[in-house]
Amino acid sequence: MITQVIHDARKIVIKIGSNTLAKADGTINPEFMKDFAAQCADLMRQGKQIVVVSSGAQVAGVSTIDRWARKKDIHYRQALCAIGQVELMDNWRAAFGASGFHIGQLLLTKEDFQDDHRTLNMRNTIFTLVDEDVVPIINENDSVSYEEIKIGDNDNLSALTAILWSADLLVLVSDIDGVYDKNPKEYADAKLIETVADLDALRGSISIGATNGFGTGGITTKLEAAAKVTAYGIPMLLANGSRPRFIEALANGSQKGTVFLAQEDL
Ligand code: ADP
Repeated sequence: MITQVIHDARKIVIKIGSNTLAKADGTINPEFMKDFAAQCADLMRQGKQIVVVSSGAQVAGVSTIDRWARKKDIHYRQALCAIGQVELMDNWRAAFGASGFHIGQLLLTKEDFQDDHRTLNMRNTIFTLVDEDVVPIINENDSVSYEEIKIGDNDNLSALTAILWSADLLVLVSDIDGVYDKNPKEYADAKLIETVADLDALRGSISIGATNGFGTGGITTKLEAAAKVTAYGIPMLLANGSRPRFIEALANGSQKGTVFLAQEDL
């Protein structure tokens, strides 16, 4: 199933969670970024188009100015994102540059998706970048966002992006293999659910545990993202980015994950 959805997709949005971008010590992980960029480059050379949604501005900010790590004040949090976003993109530029690709940055808020003019401009910018083999890297504009105008998590942001760009597949990269019947970090006997055709039935049959480490939305927002994209005919894959060359492993069937089937496939 996973091999098939990756094979069939030409336009792929890939979202990287904070847990995947951060090392255990809370600093950003450039080795992961290099390996991931090299895999995206391989996909692009196969004729696929990639848009990346990247979390990690706060993690990157803390990597840069660690004395701010424990500051909870909102102004410091937003200032930390302003610092970290530059650091994050600097790392992405180095990572994609090593594979011969340029990147472009889009920082978005909820309001951008609610305004027809902005939506059209975002769409045109993404199409232009991708047509020119530049990799768009998208994040929420956390330095200007506040509660009322926030999308709040990059799972939902990546779903809105996939719909805006008319993607063929959304991939959420996290630190777990997929959705389990219960939190795999708490229960060793948790069972991986490999295919989801009915989201409501899934919601009723699993227990959702706490969000992990630097994560924001947890499984709840991943299911919200799945509901959004599958309703638009876009399948979603939730997969683990912890191992090197994980996209290759998913594509050749040697790594498992959870596929959420698009409504039109049902
Ligand atoms: P990310 O930063 O990668 O988006 P999150 O931390 O927000 O990741 O969400 C993933 C986490 O959700 C996992 O690390 C896991 O501990 C937790 N989780 C809770 N319940 C479940 C479940 N039923 N299946 C899978 N993961 C779960």
